[in-house]
Amino acid sequence: MKLQLNKAHYPITALGPGRRIGIWTQGCSIRCPGCVSLDTWNPDRSRSIEVGALVAWCKRACGGATDGITISGGEPFDQPKALSALLDGLMYWRKESGQDFDILCYSGYRVERLRKAHPRLLERIDALMCDPYVERLTTERAWRGSDNQRLVPLTVLGHARYDAYLDVAATGPTRFQVVADGKRIWLVGIPHRGDLERIEQACAERGVSLATTSWRA
Ligand code: SF4
Repeated sequence: MKLQLNKAHYPITALGPGRRIGIWTQGCSIRCPGCVSLDTWNPDRSRSIEVGALVAWCKRACGGATDGITISGGEPFDQPKALSALLDGLMYWRKESGQDFDILCYSGYRVERLRKAHPRLLERIDALMCDPYVERLTTERAWRGSDNQRLVPLTVLGHARYDAYLDVAATGPTRFQVVADGKRIWLVGIPHRGDLERIEQACAERGVSLATTSWRA
């Protein structure tokens, strides 16, 4: 089973508690106005990776142990079969290694819709960050793009990890991190209004011009 993948990185510290593996899927049919991840919208088979290879990369990248795994996008639920295979692989790793890392998954769909359409997927996710991004609804709450988005713990582990964060201000946990990767700079996390322009300005002042960005068409 193959998953269309935009990128993966370890460690990330701005999308969930602890040092985590981040997996971003490729392809999003929701297309929220103001989305800063335009580069993830179009499905792209050339970005496909075998799920087994992705799970093996996860194990290598974190040295065998991680606090959690964050699956974002793109829209992970637009690839339900591949997402199911990925969740199976991650849960098998968690069980065989005796770890208690949590799985946090982002979605632009409402949890009510996902409960009807994909109940078996939700059984294998510890916490869901759901609902479409709404540009005008700015938020101070952790790990959300807009104030309408809901953090929904789904399992016992999910409640243990996330109940304390249901309304924590974004000034608590890390808001976003910057990853330099060859010729690319990634911003991991949720920027606030004006953050991206400030970063672009700061780069320009240091002689770095951003030729292509994920937040401009
Ligand atoms: S915010 Fe998320 S769900 Fe909305 S268009 Fe962007 S990637 Fe898709």
